[in-house]
Amino acid sequence: MKVRPRAISLLVHWFISIPENMLQITLVTTVTLDSCCLGPIASPYSLDVDRPSNNNNTYDYVIVGKSVRVLVIEAGGKENNFNNIPLFALLQQRTPIDWGYFSTPQTRSAQGLKNHQISTSRGKVVGGSSSINFMLYVRGNQLDYDRWQELGAAGWNSSAMNPYFVKMEDSRDSKREPGYHGTKGPMTISELNDPFEADTAILEGAREYGFNIGDYNGADQMRFQYGSHYIRDGRRCSTGRGYLGPASSRRNLDILLHSRADKIIFNGKRAIGVAFTSNKKDYQVFARNAVIISTGAIATPQLLMLSGIGPKDQLEKFNIPIVHESPGVGNNLQDHLFTLLLFRTNYGTSFAVERVDTVKSLVEYETSHTGPFASSGLNVNGFWRSKYADDSRPDIQFQAQSISLGNALSSYYLSYLFNINRETYVKYVLPNTNKDATIILVTLVRPRNTGTIKLASSDIKDSPLIDFNFFTDPRDLDATVEGCKLFLNISKTEAMKSVGAERFDSPLPGCEQYPLDSDDYLRCLMQTLTFTLWHSIGTAKMGSRGDPMAVVSPDLLVHGVENLMVIDTSVMPEITTGNTATPTIAIAERAADMIKGRVLRPQSLPFTDEDDIISDYVPYRIDHSI
Ligand SMILES: Cc1cc2nc3c(=O)[nH]c(=O)nc-3n(C[C@H](O)[C@H](O)[C@H](O)COP(=O)(O)OP(=O)(O)OC[C@H]3O[C@@H](n4cnc5c(N)ncnc54)[C@H](O)[C@@H]3O)c2cc1C
Repeated sequence: MKVRPRAISLLVHWFISIPENMLQITLVTTVTLDSCCLGPIASPYSLDVDRPSNNNNTYDYVIVGKSVRVLVIEAGGKENNFNNIPLFALLQQRTPIDWGYFSTPQTRSAQGLKNHQISTSRGKVVGGSSSINFMLYVRGNQLDYDRWQELGAAGWNSSAMNPYFVKMEDSRDSKREPGYHGTKGPMTISELNDPFEADTAILEGAREYGFNIGDYNGADQMRFQYGSHYIRDGRRCSTGRGYLGPASSRRNLDILLHSRADKIIFNGKRAIGVAFTSNKKDYQVFARNAVIISTGAIATPQLLMLSGIGPKDQLEKFNIPIVHESPGVGNNLQDHLFTLLLFRTNYGTSFAVERVDTVKSLVEYETSHTGPFASSGLNVNGFWRSKYADDSRPDIQFQAQSISLGNALSSYYLSYLFNINRETYVKYVLPNTNKDATIILVTLVRPRNTGTIKLASSDIKDSPLIDFNFFTDPRDLDATVEGCKLFLNISKTEAMKSVGAERFDSPLPGCEQYPLDSDDYLRCLMQTLTFTLWHSIGTAKMGSRGDPMAVVSPDLLVHGVENLMVIDTSVMPEITTGNTATPTIAIAERAADMIKGRVLRPQSLPFTDEDDIISDYVPYRIDHSI
């Protein structure tokens, strides 16, 4: 196959018939192709063809009228059978379908990690991080979206987001709160069907301690429940499966896999195309109407900066010609940090890799797609508001993973995934192997700090410098310490005693001088074993033209240039109170509608009729002025 390394011409219309809902998948460039070297790639789930096709497939005609062609460029490849098994979620990290980033060495956190660096996964595969994540379905808090509007993202508020939460959802969760959930969308959400005994004890312990048990995606977020997950018939329901798969046979959609976008091409201030690399060859493809970047909160600022949009000092440092100075690019990085509270539990109450039962479970999964392998393992989830919270939103999230650390080898592997240093592994983790256990992730969901993404070089192959900069505000540390104490209280309930919950007490290097679980100890723990929930956001934030740190307009168009959009987590002005996949999908749903010239009518919840809320459109006009 001979491939011409340059596309020839460009003619793209607005996305009048853009394949619905595919925008959240990846970097999207829109092209109406007259290019010899791209597509057609239109076999069912057309991802089979991962390189430009041969010269006979030349597009030497012009598409006119209302037809629009769209090209998706994705650096990774197809999803596989391994990443689709829910229980293997954690095992996707640091594999070829993970970008495998690390933070820069952190000063106030991560002291027990190798080189004080936090492992920062991002999916490199169709479906992006939704194909390697823990699949938890969490909408966040209504106030989160009202805050976006207050911060300058005009039109983005809770009532604008609500219809999209409903529209995207195919809820199969019998415990969902009526009036809050959709049942007709592409993203299937299932309830947990096989909790471990330790999970049940945690949920009962929370109830005993006074928490409400119920749907935290319903009227009140301050609840505990068995988490509902993006799982369909026992398999992961990523955005690849929910959206791109069904859309991939559309004849106006081409999908390039294993193709890395290197740079946005500009003509003056107008984005006209993308330079990309596929199979070690360089290509260009052109878009008449728009290029859409959906590469996520780490890669998007990197791509923008390499294309000449970013803070002046960054561009000058690497001799990148400035297309538009945008000081906000790469700033405002926010993420959810967490630490681990570890408890041993009685034999047989959790999932332990090396048991005969595990083999039985695997057989059960293979035959019926049920059992422990059909869950993410992150089975109990709850929200709590500490005394340090600034407003009515919870600031702490608890997630429980009742998976034992297993034998020395599997615990070593987990330490590798989390980048735990050798001394901490040997002294803290290793003594607790071969026992049933439950791991509680105590997470700060309303962090006050912001971090940065900066360029390491002018080469896109070099990972950018990711500095989370956690714990700049002492209240963040105080709130997480309170969160740990709250869960330690839950661990003393009768329900937790019934599974023999017992705190891991092996010495944590760096914290040995403090009595176990004293405030000082917990403070030290937080700063020693600090991880992120992989929820990076905000590095190309939405805001008004008057805000110099805003990178995109409320129409998601990059300020200061033409025809360039960003649609991914980086546009969030502020992090949501909970896991970030669901808000990202809702953003993309709304953006897809905006491009089509309409949006669902803003609504409050609960609704009375699902069909009403997902079919009531009002016209929308994107403001293209720069
Ligand atoms: C390990 C992990 C666990 C998580 N658990 C949960 C959870 O349980 N629940 C939840 O709600 N959220 C979870 N999240 C977060 C959630 O998955 C993300 O917030 C969400 O997927 C972000 O979407 P995005 O579109 O911004 O970016 P991504 O989903 O990361 O997509 C970016 C895409 O762009 C591609 N790309 C990047 N650079 C280039 C380039 N130069 N050229 C071409 N393609 C490129 C990538 O390969 C990827 O496909 C988790 C994330 C991770 C990593």
